[in-house]
Amino acid sequence: MTTEEFKKHAHEFVDWMAEYFESVEEYPVKAQVKPGEIYRKLQAEAPGEPESMEQIFDDFKQYILPGMTHWQSPNFFAYFPANNSYPSVLAEMLTATLGAQCMIWETSPAAAELEERVMNWLKQMLGLPGSFEGVIQDTASTASLTALITARERASGMQINKRGFSANEKYRIYCSMETHSSIEKAVKIAGLGSNSLVKIAVDKDFRMNPGLLEKAIIEDIDNGYNPLSVIATLGTTGTTAIDPLEKIADISSRYKLWLHVDAALAGSALLLPEFRWMIKGIEGVDSFVFNPHKWLFTNFDCSAYFVKDPGLLIKSLEILPEYLKTKSRGKVNDYRDWGIPLGRRFRALKLWFVIRNFGVSGLQEKLRSHLRLTAKLQKMINESGDFEIMAPVPLNTICFRYHPAGEDNPELLDSLNEKLLQDINDSGKAYFTHTRLNGSFVIRFVIGQTNVSEKHVINAWNLIQGTIKRFN
Ligand SMILES: *Cc1c(COP(=O)(O)O)cnc(C)c1O
Repeated sequence: MTTEEFKKHAHEFVDWMAEYFESVEEYPVKAQVKPGEIYRKLQAEAPGEPESMEQIFDDFKQYILPGMTHWQSPNFFAYFPANNSYPSVLAEMLTATLGAQCMIWETSPAAAELEERVMNWLKQMLGLPGSFEGVIQDTASTASLTALITARERASGMQINKRGFSANEKYRIYCSMETHSSIEKAVKIAGLGSNSLVKIAVDKDFRMNPGLLEKAIIEDIDNGYNPLSVIATLGTTGTTAIDPLEKIADISSRYKLWLHVDAALAGSALLLPEFRWMIKGIEGVDSFVFNPHKWLFTNFDCSAYFVKDPGLLIKSLEILPEYLKTKSRGKVNDYRDWGIPLGRRFRALKLWFVIRNFGVSGLQEKLRSHLRLTAKLQKMINESGDFEIMAPVPLNTICFRYHPAGEDNPELLDSLNEKLLQDINDSGKAYFTHTRLNGSFVIRFVIGQTNVSEKHVINAWNLIQGTIKRFN
């Protein structure tokens, strides 16, 4: 491809991108395809001869687009969002163009220093302690794994890195029953073994019960175990429950546990001073992660990981083969030592674009608008009579179910709600996902999409009610 051709296609693509954003809500939100359908349509063998960009782009539109779920649709209320925004997409274009591999300072000093700067911005924006230092990771899963490895190395005096596990460590890690599955995965990968993970029961609001946490720790110590770490969640994936951080921090400091906070979604809400109560006790926290790629309008992937003691993090993960030795080492941040992969994408740029172009007040206004919509919908569900809200709503997520008066058979309620969810998702007009709370099937309504407005929420609520009418 020549430079002239590249320019021509790039301009066409930008036109298509703008049109896509303008019309994204007209696509079926959840891809309406069957397993294997796309695969069968794709050429069985890689082309031997060059194909034109026109042909490739046509195939993108014909074969790929129908198999995409439209995460940027304002009718996407499923999972948690992975939202983007215009400034973020513009930055991603530049990042792709520069194509830099930002593993160490010398491989792109601007990437390292911009990362340091935007992580400091985020720290201030969220109200995290000044002594914390941040680094961008790909995902919260990786950040939590990093936390557990550092916890392990602190406890073993850097010995497990060296000699591996012996039979007598007997570590214990604590989290709640509502903790994200990435924690169990991290426990496995860090070599701690999933049997070492103790899941503490939650209270009626799905928050970790700190009394039961302390009881479990005491029992474990009595039985010869070695309590290592506790993971507190701000904004659980099921219901966005907020674990009581201050009490958990107090217990962690008394028993000298590594306290890791998983605030993947809820971290963004800390931009709002009225949510800072969630991090009361943060001085006792060793590590903290949240995902700008969830609810901060920054393209996936971008996860912000903060630690109290970066020296310990680096000591746990650093490597220094001859070919990576540089003169600048020690004077600058070589972020390859702050995480698991050596190679690093230039992720700070999109965050810089987003924070500058929205401004802190613009970001706050977006988040508040989502929270206002959530409160409004919550009121409508409460007033509807035939629906019930199944968990507290501290943030932007409502767990609810259809529950017609007089119908109390749990299996029937589950199957009615499963059918409701399926019918709506099959309509392509909105997309929801579910969870189970105290055994009951509930639908999650998450309002975090960049461009979601009142119209979309009301339409989705009308769609739910209309779908129910057709059941009867
Ligand atoms: C989404 C989520 C995660 C996983 O995030 P990734 O960045 O995809 O790894 C972890 N914890 C919580 C609470 C989440 O909501």
